[in-house]
Amino acid sequence: MMILANTNETTLPFVKSNVPLVDLLEQYASIATELEEAVDACISSGQYIQGPDVCDFEQAFARYCDVEHCVGVASGTDALHLACRAIGVGYGDEVIIPAHTFVATATGVCLAGGVPVPVDIDPDTGLIDPQKIEGAVTSKTKAIIPVHLYGQCADMDVINAIARRHELFVIEDAAQAHGARYRDRTAGSLGDLAAFSFYPGKNLGAYGDGGAVTTKDARIAEKVRLIGNYGAHNKYEHVEFGFNSRLDTIQAAILNVKLPHLSEWNARRREIAARYNDALSERSDITLTKCATGNTHVYHLYVIRCADRDERLARLKARGIGAGMHYPYPIHRLPAYSWLNLPVGRFPNAEAFADTCLSLPIYAEMDDEQIQRVIDTV
Ligand SMILES: *Cc1c(COP(=O)(O)O)cnc(C)c1O
Repeated sequence: MMILANTNETTLPFVKSNVPLVDLLEQYASIATELEEAVDACISSGQYIQGPDVCDFEQAFARYCDVEHCVGVASGTDALHLACRAIGVGYGDEVIIPAHTFVATATGVCLAGGVPVPVDIDPDTGLIDPQKIEGAVTSKTKAIIPVHLYGQCADMDVINAIARRHELFVIEDAAQAHGARYRDRTAGSLGDLAAFSFYPGKNLGAYGDGGAVTTKDARIAEKVRLIGNYGAHNKYEHVEFGFNSRLDTIQAAILNVKLPHLSEWNARRREIAARYNDALSERSDITLTKCATGNTHVYHLYVIRCADRDERLARLKARGIGAGMHYPYPIHRLPAYSWLNLPVGRFPNAEAFADTCLSLPIYAEMDDEQIQRVIDTV
């Protein structure tokens, strides 16, 4: 064939020699028939909003998280937004968040009218430093949002104790932590309520946007459902301000197929992370992110730190390794949050983490050869 006759290069198996940061098509291929049947059934049912697919998923995901209630919403950002509104965060209320997180943690607070108050992180784990929380509590503080960043849980016992002392709510940002465990309890059951995202690249991902709020508290669940359904329990009876934020029915059908595989996928992510840890732990030019004792990590991301991050990232990419940065700017250094008026240098651990963090490819379908290729290239 003419196309392949050119050079040796073009005949190499490209697909396996490049390792993307995440590959969604490999997972799709492994369960394609089931997924297509579920989507077809949904389309032929004529039920495109709510319905049994959403109901089934909410029940199954609540069970998976060891809670009584799960409410599907339109995205992870909305899950945080609705969670804030459901506990009464309103204009000017302060909500404590880690300085190092995805921007949506802050977005959710702002959408409810609140003010995100960043605090610094533990440099070993990248997670919110509980010791820094009390110093940020004021008379306006309403809640704390610990983020289970990269797939391991924040130190929830300490955080919950602080919250109790100051009568604050705790909302877990569990968008990266489906199935993660903390001292034999599951992410999503560790605070007053929790926000999940089903963005396609998450450990449990839909084929579009989606999210959920989980809680043990029936009243909070009801409130989230009310706000996400135009503030109405019954058609036309709008008892409070609300809007439209629901988990799409086709996405729920997809999630119902995927959820039974989640634990197995998370276990494979842990296996890959263990291979990386073994291979990289002796390296003086690389700092590994620690998994805290008592945590079962689900490695949404595998993040290392290195002083020459930018050069290293460019070199990895040039060699076909889909490395990334999560995240290169802490919240207070984003132009969108300059109004918080927090100076550079205010959160030194978060700033250093942002400058040095580098994410290596990790997804359940990576094969051993790909893992080795990443290790060799690093
Ligand atoms: C993905 C993510 C979100 C937002 O979820 P979306 O579904 O993209 O809106 C929030 N917080 C964290 C930590 C995330 O990783």
